Amino acid sequence: MICYDHIMVRFGELSTKGKNKKDFIRILSLNIKHALKDFSNLQVEERYDHIYVHLNGSDYEPIISRLQDVSGIQALSLVAKVNNDIEEIKSASLELIKQEEGQTFKVKVKRSNKRFSFSSDEITRIVAPVILKNTSLKVDVHNPDILLQVEVRDEGTYIFVKTYIGAGGYPLGVGGKSMHMLSGGIDSPVAAYLLMRRGVVIECIHFASPPYTQEAVIYKLIDLLHKLNRYQSKIRLHIVPFTKIQEAIYDNAPESYCITLMRRMMYRLAAKLAKRRKCPVISSGESVGQVASQTLQSINVINEVTNLPVIRPCAVMDKLEIIKYAKKIDTYDISIRPYEDCCTIFTPKAPKTSPHLDEAKEFEKKFDYESLIEEALNNIEVKFIE
Ligand code: ATP
Ligand code: MG
Repeated sequence: MICYDHIMVRFGELSTKGKNKKDFIRILSLNIKHALKDFSNLQVEERYDHIYVHLNGSDYEPIISRLQDVSGIQALSLVAKVNNDIEEIKSASLELIKQEEGQTFKVKVKRSNKRFSFSSDEITRIVAPVILKNTSLKVDVHNPDILLQVEVRDEGTYIFVKTYIGAGGYPLGVGGKSMHMLSGGIDSPVAAYLLMRRGVVIECIHFASPPYTQEAVIYKLIDLLHKLNRYQSKIRLHIVPFTKIQEAIYDNAPESYCITLMRRMMYRLAAKLAKRRKCPVISSGESVGQVASQTLQSINVINEVTNLPVIRPCAVMDKLEIIKYAKKIDTYDISIRPYEDCCTIFTPKAPKTSPHLDEAKEFEKKFDYESLIEEALNNIEVKFIE
């Protein structure tokens, strides 16, 4: 009896990557092994243009669902493998299609093994009549209920009807590393996820202002990162003591400039830590126009403190779109837990939406922020979330 014994993993975008492809496949294969480490009995096989997971009798559903979180996978098919033998292909096709529900079918054949003695067309014209003769199914080439796919490769022939979409993007680890600014809100975990999907590993930096902000925020961050562990199994979180800097700002600048200056300090700290941790970019959950500090003019004045590129995956997304992602990655319910953030605690009644760089610099001259920044960097607390 024939049964589905493999999951075929397709890469999609990877195929455009030419000579890097080998590395990509290697990294993806490691990520797949890691994602499936709780399942015993499986085997991961790397091939030039696909990866195969040998089920060895395991139930496929939880495995497919786990693999759907792994970035760099375009699609997953549940496949049955037979020898490159037309009789085997015929009988397996018939047996598998009989298990399906529907009235119409189409056979789609792909032959990458050019030594196989039948062409794709010939295979179709051999398999389809067998199905017509032995079932009540009718052919519908445009909109079939069942699409039976047959792929003849060097090592064997794969037959399948079920394909599941993957997360897309690139395998985590091929895109380098970003220093990601994680608050506790809705946007920054989503931004982190979007980066991970592009293959970028993240380290997180969080600015904490005890006693104004509570320890509960840290637990919230840990809960958020546990959700993100689905995509990156180990995440480093740097907690930067921000209280003294924040107090110095409030002592030396008018209320309307506090947020601007605070964010300039955050970016200074993030840039320094990024360099230390060998991250070539910083990232954040900022979204254009969302709040006073995220108008283009504010972003310009804030970003002026660093020449490191800042990636803002949520930059042009509506809040509703961001929320949709947050729900998909299951961070939404954690993000909306009430908490005091260093941004909310001192929120001025009228923050500047169009701050001036000269003025910001003037206010900063009034205190020795460089040494406060050094001190904060020397007192970072690091946590590993895995
Ligand atoms: P989020 O929902 O992610 O908190 P937000 O809408 O609350 O975003 P802001 O509070 O203005 O927006 O923050 C914009 C971005 O700045 C955040 O997405 C995050 O990347 C970064 N950020 C804000 N506060 C902190 C913090 N305390 N520590 C680290 N990063 C922060
Ligand atoms: Mg916030």
